[in-house]
Order: sequence, then structure tokens, then C-alpha cells
Amino acid sequence: MRLAKFLAHAGVASRRASEQLIRDGRVTVGGEVVTDPARDVDGSSGVRVDGDPIRGEEPRAVYALHKPAGVVSTARDTHGRRTVTELVPQGRRLYPVGRLDADTTGLILLTNDGELANRLTHPRYEVPKTYRATTRGPAITDRALRRLRDGVRLEDGMTAPARAIRLSSHVVEITIHEGRKRQVRRMLEEVGHPVRALVRVQFGPLRLGELRPGQSRRLTAREVADLA
Ligand code: URA
Repeated sequence: MRLAKFLAHAGVASRRASEQLIRDGRVTVGGEVVTDPARDVDGSSGVRVDGDPIRGEEPRAVYALHKPAGVVSTARDTHGRRTVTELVPQGRRLYPVGRLDADTTGLILLTNDGELANRLTHPRYEVPKTYRATTRGPAITDRALRRLRDGVRLEDGMTAPARAIRLSSHVVEITIHEGRKRQVRRMLEEVGHPVRALVRVQFGPLRLGELRPGQSRRLTAREVADLA
């Protein structure tokens, strides 16, 4: 296997970041610095990063987390806030699958497989994501629902058709296939119903279910297969 791929599969870093580690001369194979990301290696080649031995491929692990409010969904935060990776306590390096705003709660996935994380968030795969929004101001109108369904003009362009179901006068469930920054908040603001609270209740086939804020669980092999 290519050295960069080997590092990515071992959970060291994404494929691209692994290539950079290699070019930076931080990776040795059998005691020798290797700067070619395409060097062929396997679990017995004696690969080390900054002197630390790298075991072979780790089995893929995917976790579902109920992200509480105030926690950021990057792997690290420059302002010292808590991150979602700190809420899934286990030894391996995890990548959040996509992002939720700090003030959004609900389902976020984390995985040790950087490639899977990239794939599930790539616009080409159009993974449907469902959000339950509680709104402020007047009761949600039929016209607003129609606009959400047909597409809303935002400053970065029209949104794609979405599913929008009114659950009560101030609660709407919206399913989108895109992942623009603060998209659901901006869509609802644009149609006159600013968001008071936003929860992601579903990602692809996976539902938030009974997870309580801050709780996580490892997905079963079946659930991972359904996702990927
Ligand atoms: N849309 C938003 O506005 N916020 C999120 O966190 C996710 C989707």
C-alpha cells in the first residue's frame, strides 16, 4: 500500500495531511527517512512518524454523538472551546463528519477513517440531513413552507429543493442535501422565521434516536455498511 494511504488508514491524518508529513521528512520506514508518499509499505515495514511506531490499519470505527450546545465540531479549537472529539472518549484519532454550528445540537458522526469522513460530506454524495428547527416570531406560514421546499435565494445562491414538514406552529423539520454554512438558519431567516433552536435529528439513514446530549455510541457494522 502507498505510504500516504497507509498513514491515513492507520488514523494518523487525512491522506493529504499524511502526504505533507512525508514530504516534511517526519516519516521513517525501517529507520530511514522517506519523502516519497508513493513508497510501498505494509504493517511489517516499520513505519514511524516523529519516531512513533505506526501499527497497521486500524479497523474502521464510526461513532454517533449527540452534540450539546456550545461544543465545536472541529477536531481542535483555537479558542480553547470543547470539541466533539473530546466527547467520544477513546484512544484513536477521530475526524468529525461535517460540521454543526456551535449552537446547533444533535447528531454528528465521528470516525477514524478520514476518507470516509470526506466522502460522506462531499456534495457529490448528497447525503440527506434532517434538522428540527424551533422558530421565533409569527407562526410558520404555508408560503414559507413552499419557499423552503422550492428553494430559497441566499447570498451564495439558490438552495436546492428541500423537504419541509411543519410539526407545530413554531417547529419545522427540514431535510437538505447540501451543507452550506449555517444553511438552515439562513433559509429560515430568509422566509421570515428566524431559528431559536436547531437540532439535527438524522444523517443519511441514521437517526439521533435515544442518545442524550453528550452521549455517544459506536455504530454497528450493519449501520456503517448502510452509511458507506
Ligand atoms: N444548518 C445550520 O444552519 N446550522 C447547522 O449547524 C447545520 C445546518
